[in-house]
Amino acid sequence: MAKAAKRKELDFTEFPPSSVTEFSTIVCLACVFDIFTTQLGFAPRTAYSEIRKYSPTIAELTAPKAARPFFDSDDKQAHCPYCNAAKRWHARLETVRIEGGKATDTARRALIKKLPQKDNQFQLIETKSDKRAIFFDWLDTLVRNLDLDDAGWLLEATRAYLARLEPKTNWNEVFEGLRAVRRSQRLNEGWEREGSRLFLTPPIYNEALIVQYLVSRSHVHGGQTLEGRLTLFELVRRLRYSGYLDAKEISGADQAEALDAIIEKLAGGQGKVKLYHIVDRREFLDKVKSVYARYAA
Ligand SMILES: [Zn+2]
Repeated sequence: MAKAAKRKELDFTEFPPSSVTEFSTIVCLACVFDIFTTQLGFAPRTAYSEIRKYSPTIAELTAPKAARPFFDSDDKQAHCPYCNAAKRWHARLETVRIEGGKATDTARRALIKKLPQKDNQFQLIETKSDKRAIFFDWLDTLVRNLDLDDAGWLLEATRAYLARLEPKTNWNEVFEGLRAVRRSQRLNEGWEREGSRLFLTPPIYNEALIVQYLVSRSHVHGGQTLEGRLTLFELVRRLRYSGYLDAKEISGADQAEALDAIIEKLAGGQGKVKLYHIVDRREFLDKVKSVYARYAA
């Protein structure tokens, strides 16, 4: 049954959108109880208190492909793919990952302070990563959210990149009814919307092309961009002739090296990044309780 009062959602409006990544997975408590009682030999009561303390790893919570006892499904009536247990045995675990840094530190501290402490309803996990890995994570998420068979994806990918570049702008509004994105030799900085067209300065336009290339390179008709289909050779040549490589002080001996240096620029340099994960265990704790009540009955 649905809960009478809706859970209080966490508020991330103070954070630049690109600094916050949300993950969601479902854990099957029938599988978990089975592991603790059958495989590990715990009595149900012990299993219950152990499971309440159980904290999944970041890898389990954020894996693109879930493994037992976790699974992913958008179907509200889905059964566990491992043991066929129905919905009442499932608990959703939501994880929010915040990139540390000047843009987020104050808001993060304030948010964490407000979280309820009781029963570890929220679990905090800190990890370290680097800017390059974060960039590829962002790219992976983008690829998963785009439909590359839909012609609109080039604009969507452009919008996603602009949102990463300029998080404070309301890009949904800027892209409303937009039909085309063009390079502008006239603009000195940023972007400008004119009618149904969005104009970008050459460097930003080039970076949008790079992102489009990276998004589509593993797709069947790889290398699609607003400038048509490009091979890596053509992309790098285009960036060289437009002055982008010189402006960014990128000198790669070959295409692969140049691409590597370009990606480093897009990622924001080398440097380490601290990652703060907030795991919402509220539904998990509720479900463990109700499942145990049924289990022990
Ligand atoms: Zn199961």
